[in-house]
Amino acid sequence: MLRSRLFWKLLLASAALNAVGLLVLGAWVIAQQRQQEIDAAAAELRGVLRLCQSLLIREQAAIGPGDAFRETLPAVASDASEATGDRVVFLDVAERVLADSVITQAADGGGPALERVALVARGAVADARVSGFGLESRRTTAAGVTVLHAAERVDEALPVSVVCVIRELPQLEERVADKRNRLIAVAAMVTLGFAAAAAGLAQLVVRPVQSLRDAADAIASGDYKKRAYVSSDDELGDLARSFNKMREELGSQLTELREGGQRQTTVLGGMIEGVIAVDDRERVLFANTAAGRLFGFIPPQIEGRPLLEVVRLHTLHEAVASALASARPQRLETEWEEAAERRMLLVQVTPLPGDPCPGVVTVLHDTTELRRLESLRSDFVANVSHELKTPLSSIKAYTETLIDGAVNDPEHNMPFLRRIEEQADRLNYLIQDLLALARIESEQQPFEIRPVAVADVIGSCLADYRPRAEGKQIELVAEGPPQPLHAKADAEGLRLIVNNLVDNAIKYTSISGRVAVRWGAGEAGMVKIEVEDTGIGIPAESLPRVFERFFRVDKARSRELGGTGLGLAIVKHLAQAFGGHVDVTSEVGKGTVFSVELPAA
Ligand code: ADP
Repeated sequence: MLRSRLFWKLLLASAALNAVGLLVLGAWVIAQQRQQEIDAAAAELRGVLRLCQSLLIREQAAIGPGDAFRETLPAVASDASEATGDRVVFLDVAERVLADSVITQAADGGGPALERVALVARGAVADARVSGFGLESRRTTAAGVTVLHAAERVDEALPVSVVCVIRELPQLEERVADKRNRLIAVAAMVTLGFAAAAAGLAQLVVRPVQSLRDAADAIASGDYKKRAYVSSDDELGDLARSFNKMREELGSQLTELREGGQRQTTVLGGMIEGVIAVDDRERVLFANTAAGRLFGFIPPQIEGRPLLEVVRLHTLHEAVASALASARPQRLETEWEEAAERRMLLVQVTPLPGDPCPGVVTVLHDTTELRRLESLRSDFVANVSHELKTPLSSIKAYTETLIDGAVNDPEHNMPFLRRIEEQADRLNYLIQDLLALARIESEQQPFEIRPVAVADVIGSCLADYRPRAEGKQIELVAEGPPQPLHAKADAEGLRLIVNNLVDNAIKYTSISGRVAVRWGAGEAGMVKIEVEDTGIGIPAESLPRVFERFFRVDKARSRELGGTGLGLAIVKHLAQAFGGHVDVTSEVGKGTVFSVELPAA
């Protein structure tokens, strides 16, 4: 409390006011008393003046007017002075001293001393001349004594024109000074007592104010729980109640704001699209994680920096600048290079509401993958059409030739019909492969994932292919561990994988070659199946593409051998569907190894 400035201000101000009030009141009371004393003395002096007048009239009546009367005047003045104790002065019409009870050697016409007396009382004498009576009080500066002058006009006892009575009030100033000192002492004591009471009152005001201040400080530092405790039912109590209500409102609004902000940040953070908000000077206000990933920055670090510094994409800056200038949304699709890779971006720039436009929000959608998929799809459609068209054209050509008469040509009709059958088979394989691929990709094929004995699948597959291998004098071998090994896969799917790989191996291996199917435990709980051949091999530049649909190293040869160009794509998708993967190593002219890894059961 003692450190509160408000407390000291209230205390000192009230004590000072009290002291000043007391002093002013005391000074007024003292002045009143002083005046009362002067008034009492003045009343007495009026009596003295009346006495002097009656003495003069009586003396004139006894002696008669003339010089004799003039000579008796000093004696009259002395008598009157003796009787009253006051100084008595008689003046003539010209204000010359005719007699003075103090200065008796008055010369005719008055000397300097007498003149001084006349001068001193001049105010009272002048009033007496005009109105019949005059009173004047003066303080002698030298002795500090108050002197009272009373003068009265004399009409009957000429040559005396004015009677002047002078009385000193020697104790008056002392009494005034004594009262003043006592007043100061009393005022000091009263002020002290008053200050003690004022301190108590000041506390009543300061405490609630301090409580309000503490609560306001707490709010300023983010603590919305601290209340202002004021129990009084006066204006301060009302203020505290209003304050507490405001605190609750503010607190709940801030919580709502915070939650809203968090929600917004979460939504923006979880977006796949990049979001960058900039102000009217193109300085970054906010950027989400996706935008950071897109342009390689850490979002909080770039806030406040110019967009130009952060994103070096000219078209984006143009769109932002024109959105800011026109306050209209802008949309564009642009290309940009990232780590030597061309990427496509769909940019939507939306101005923030306000006039002038306070900034814009830029939403960036990386459409590279979308575009790639679109081009894959159109390539696929083109490839499928082409693949379907080729056998169909052959079938149509042979059919037309047969219709045109070759049907009756015993030399050609059968070979033509066989060709038609071959092309129909090709169409059939193609459609089957396409359907299989589509089912795997759309994840519609209900795989029955369970432990499958790898040796059994490989064994039955090799049994199927053995006649073909023997036809080409290809040695077909199976190399596996003696203990049974199970893979987690769909039995039909696994069979398709092995069939496709063995089929290719036999297809692309010339006469007297060797095809080996090996299996065993792979790394990290996987089962590894390898199909190795001593065939034509695959050129290094084609290796990354062999799993693409319709990719063939040698199109004519593949077709001739009845390939659809979809076998390896099916293998890859199946392996992935079972949680595994497929790989290839090859050397042209020496052979190829395809290896499939699937989770072990
Ligand atoms: P295809 O039906 O043409 O065999 P695949 O998808 O099975 O289609 O194979 C794609 C291409 O990969 C083949 O056309 C061929 O050029 C090459 N290829 C696949 N397996 C082998 C292999 N064992 N040896 C050499 N080339 C292969």
